[in-house]
Amino acid sequence: MLSFDRSSLETKAARVDGRLAADDPVWQAGDLRPAGDIAVTGRLSSAGEDRFYFSGRLAGEADEECRRCLTPTRVSVTEELHLLFADANDEESDESDVYLLEPRATTVDLRPALREQWLLAVPGFALCREDCKGLCPKCGADLNLGPCQCEPAIDPRWAALREKGGG
Ligand SMILES: [Zn+2]
Ligand SMILES: [Zn+2]
Repeated sequence: MLSFDRSSLETKAARVDGRLAADDPVWQAGDLRPAGDIAVTGRLSSAGEDRFYFSGRLAGEADEECRRCLTPTRVSVTEELHLLFADANDEESDESDVYLLEPRATTVDLRPALREQWLLAVPGFALCREDCKGLCPKCGADLNLGPCQCEPAIDPRWAALREKGGG
């Protein structure tokens, strides 16, 4: 459960131990959704009048493509979260990581904030492995499987050295 009753939060902090599913309606078109549920743990407490503070973490996995060789690659995503939820008229609510509470809502719903934090945490640059050799820019062969038939490209830095030292 990722939605909490405001009035009970004001008297007692809530332990958060929930899951945000990949098919939750909070996700929008174009989002890089998780490969499965995102696990969310932490503590949600009152932080003064009409303000709530969440401290915890999210953990999940995303399916991306390796930037170099395009192989489907599953990446782990974990993120520490420190989020403030405040009313729209809160003067300090232009800080980063402040989320506005729905006007007149009786609950604090963590899901829109979790969606945004997930999208920020997912790496934009996935690699299937640290030393992925990528694809040959000429023939498109996967160089992780071995060299292709193309002429080996000469790194321009080496070519420059060769010219200097040659004679
Ligand atoms: Zn790769
Ligand atoms: Zn090639």
